[in-house]
Amino acid sequence: MSLVNLLDLDLDALVAWCGEQGEKRFRAVQLFRWIHQKGESDFARMTDLAKSLRDKLATAAVVQPLKILSEQASADGTIKWLFDVGGGDAVETVFIPEDDRGTLCISSQAGCAVGCRFCATGHQGFSRNLSTGEIVAQLWFAEHHLRQRLNRPAGDRVISNVVMMGMGEPLQNYAALLPALRVMLDDHGYGVSRRRVTVSTSGVVPMIERLRSDCPVALAVSLHAPTDALRDQLVPLNRKYPLAELLAACRDYLTAAPRDFITFEYCMLDGVNDGPEQARQLIALVSGQAGAPRVPCKFNLIPFNPFPASGLKRSPRDRVMAFAKQLQEAGIVTTVRKTRGDDIDAACGQLAGEVQDRTNAQIRLTRPVIRIEPAPLGSS
Ligand code: SAH
Ligand code: SF4
Repeated sequence: MSLVNLLDLDLDALVAWCGEQGEKRFRAVQLFRWIHQKGESDFARMTDLAKSLRDKLATAAVVQPLKILSEQASADGTIKWLFDVGGGDAVETVFIPEDDRGTLCISSQAGCAVGCRFCATGHQGFSRNLSTGEIVAQLWFAEHHLRQRLNRPAGDRVISNVVMMGMGEPLQNYAALLPALRVMLDDHGYGVSRRRVTVSTSGVVPMIERLRSDCPVALAVSLHAPTDALRDQLVPLNRKYPLAELLAACRDYLTAAPRDFITFEYCMLDGVNDGPEQARQLIALVSGQAGAPRVPCKFNLIPFNPFPASGLKRSPRDRVMAFAKQLQEAGIVTTVRKTRGDDIDAACGQLAGEVQDRTNAQIRLTRPVIRIEPAPLGSS
């Protein structure tokens, strides 16, 4: 009989599983709290569970951690872990401490099938989806490891915010993502509030709609271009879900979370998407047509983190600031992301893990989007 990995189960699923073992709901709640709130993986140490249940758990279940391949700590306090997920694949998780919060950046896939031009993960190709247990294990490990390491009193949470901005496109792994989000939000789990869990997507429109009805956490949309012509080249998924559909999905999303806003991420690429004309087009894009109100949003400009195979350059600082100013003057809250952990390649888009591309890199690389050079992009 194969063992059930309890990290794969949200509370409802654990209640159902315990039910099959003849256990009541409150037992499942106790077990869930031991695992996620106390970080316990040894059933024998779950002292307030009946001995008979502990024995049963030991033969039927496991709390399966990920295998750590390496840990790197940056001068600014950022920590990056590389986890082995088997089959030659590794994924990365990044902890970013700030004065008033601790953010964990979690991976959802080994590699990514979207293949954005400016992204190191995208250049690696896609290997496989992570399971719910592998997504949750990143938080489970980081929270409990850091609690000990930072000497936090019992029950004092280190991680206050979670961003699904590591490797992979979370909305292309929706079936595993949703229970993982539920574990993060659950008061018996990590108790992270809905607005402090962010799903970042390159724009999988039907799944934005699903997330809105299932679990409307904070949504970040990786925009990167104001026109379909340019976005088709930078984010290939745009060919399937063009900007008009994406913006409509963003507006709809906020109907489930009326006081929220969409964070538009925009990676600043020198001479490609960073000029005054593009800023003007962006303002028009998020402003409603024919009298409709503007999409409630804020912009996060990300200085591009270069990697050799991209052939792209980071926009100069003054161009980023001018772009930000133009958006701000149009009344759009705009921030420029500080790059954290770039001395350990933990900054956005530098997460490259080790991935066996099972989509067949030969085929992927012949897709036209990969072959377009920066110069024609800039002139479009
Ligand atoms: N697949 C999701 C989430 C992971 S990528 C998405 O695309 O939104 C997280 C963020 O990092 C995205 O906004 C992405 O566009 C950005 N990013 C990717 N490569 C980057 C790079 N080289 N420099 C800066 N940001 C990058
Ligand atoms: Fe995938 Fe996001 Fe990277 Fe695009 S930016 S390739 S969607 S991880």
